[in-house]
Amino acid sequence: MKYCAGTAAVLGLSELELFSKVSEALAASSAKPPVIWLEGQDCAGCTISFAGALNPPASSLILDKLSIRYHETLMAGAGYLAEATYEETVKAGGYVLCVEGSIPTADDRFCMVGGRPFREMVEETGEKAAAIIAVGACAAYGGIPAAGPTGAVGVNKIIKHKPVINLPTCPVHVDHLVGTVLYFLTTGKAPPLDDIGRPKMYFGELIHDNCRRRYYFDNEMFLTDWNDPAQKNWCLYEKGCKGPDTYADCAVRRWNDGQNYCIDCGAGCMGCAEPDFYDGMSPLYTAESERSRNIMARKKAGLIPPLEKKA
Ligand code: SF4
Ligand code: SF4
Repeated sequence: MKYCAGTAAVLGLSELELFSKVSEALAASSAKPPVIWLEGQDCAGCTISFAGALNPPASSLILDKLSIRYHETLMAGAGYLAEATYEETVKAGGYVLCVEGSIPTADDRFCMVGGRPFREMVEETGEKAAAIIAVGACAAYGGIPAAGPTGAVGVNKIIKHKPVINLPTCPVHVDHLVGTVLYFLTTGKAPPLDDIGRPKMYFGELIHDNCRRRYYFDNEMFLTDWNDPAQKNWCLYEKGCKGPDTYADCAVRRWNDGQNYCIDCGAGCMGCAEPDFYDGMSPLYTAESERSRNIMARKKAGLIPPLEKKA
């Protein structure tokens, strides 16, 4: 249940208590909660992130208990069989709708699935969904496709009359996805969200406030040469890090089963959890962007105080 540390804390439970609560909730349900997973303007990276959770026991428990009825990349069925399953599930309602990828608004023809506009499928499936999850940065806010000509938007710009849970980052963090689904299965509702639809339990703190390079930012020791061993641990601001403007728990949760994450690998944070990723964060690997200049201006004005003073 390591996936659920944040979830347990939000529910006021220990992880062990959460484990039994979820197990009970799932055991009490004779039917597996159905899931429809749509893919629009995406690269399938979030599906890959999700599929990476198939082997650990916690995710196996969840996956064994879910009924994924429709998923264009993972499902074995195809053609009329797949379409019939989709239609049956939509008609019955009560499913968890996961949307991966953005939706074009400039012209429907930018994203058609089986001859239908993807936008229509999102509208249709949204009607009878019990919960709607925008999986990854593209589905949440438009993501990388929003930097192109398709007028790409996130799910909540198409489904406006129901809450949409946004799980940005590029790709989605599997812990965020599994933890959010668990929260919904356990409580029957969405976790507390911030004002842009992200679960507070995962997106409540700045990367910058948990970064191990923070001492060097505070003391203006910025890495300029990756080949200089003396600078190895210095702050990556000059290399375009947007951690001071990015709310996500990557520095604490880390990625790939807790192995590592962007900044500890030597790459600055690209701000992929924020609504204006990708355009608003570019150029990514220099401090020449408006965003980076703004970060430094705030530092100089004392608006990003050193950590020890912050406490
Ligand atoms: S700017 Fe980036 S690398 Fe530097 S302390 Fe902040 S989050 Fe860490
Ligand atoms: S550290 Fe930044 S760029 Fe990396 S995954 Fe987290 S939010 Fe995205």
